[in-house]
Amino acid sequence: MHRRGDTGWIEVIAGPMFSGKSEELIRRVTRYHLARIPTQTFKPALDTRYAVAEVVSHSRLSTEAIPVQDSDQLLRSVEDRTQVVGVDEGQFFDDGLVQVAETLADAGKNIIVAGLDLDYLGRPFEPIPSLMLRAEYVTKALAVCHKCGGPGLFTQRVVQSDELVVLGATDAYQARCRQCYDPREAEQPKLAVVEEG
Ligand code: ADP
Ligand code: MG
Ligand code: ZN
Repeated sequence: MHRRGDTGWIEVIAGPMFSGKSEELIRRVTRYHLARIPTQTFKPALDTRYAVAEVVSHSRLSTEAIPVQDSDQLLRSVEDRTQVVGVDEGQFFDDGLVQVAETLADAGKNIIVAGLDLDYLGRPFEPIPSLMLRAEYVTKALAVCHKCGGPGLFTQRVVQSDELVVLGATDAYQARCRQCYDPREAEQPKLAVVEEG
């Protein structure tokens, strides 16, 4: 028989933007919280969309969250009594997040990480891929392709920027399927508007 605290494990919810990762993280953490199991949810301090001390989904579900600078600070902020640790926007953490997740699981905690598995150029977005290999449970979430309604696997940037991260700007991204995804779309020069006179 398993008693609470006997075993820990890692869950990863990975997928593109708009695939319901935050929604699913909030759902999983909230059900423990409602059952009076101590939970804590964290997010990278750089993600200041909507609210500072909350994780908020595009569908406006929310849960309390503690902003932390890096995986080190996350580990130090987890209280002994905490049984379930949620992490949103895991792709914005350093690679140390993998070890931190394992340390927490080894300590008997259930750690649930949501994050992008691919960046806007379709490349692996660490540390999520490495974390997926170390996780007991992996959920690959799909969005609905904004162009055709097909299975949205990719995050398409639809504004021009060379930055890896264009934060918060929901309008800057779309979920796209395999056929409609084009990483070069955002590179194509937009027509310059030249003012006359
Ligand atoms: P993620 O954290 O993966 O970016 P969220 O959990 O914040 O996703 O938001 C998921 C919600 O986004 C959906 O329930 C839906 O209301 C909304 N949404 C907006 N655009 C799309 C889309 N193209 N496909 C699926 N859901 C979408
Ligand atoms: Mg999210
Ligand atoms: Zn499509």
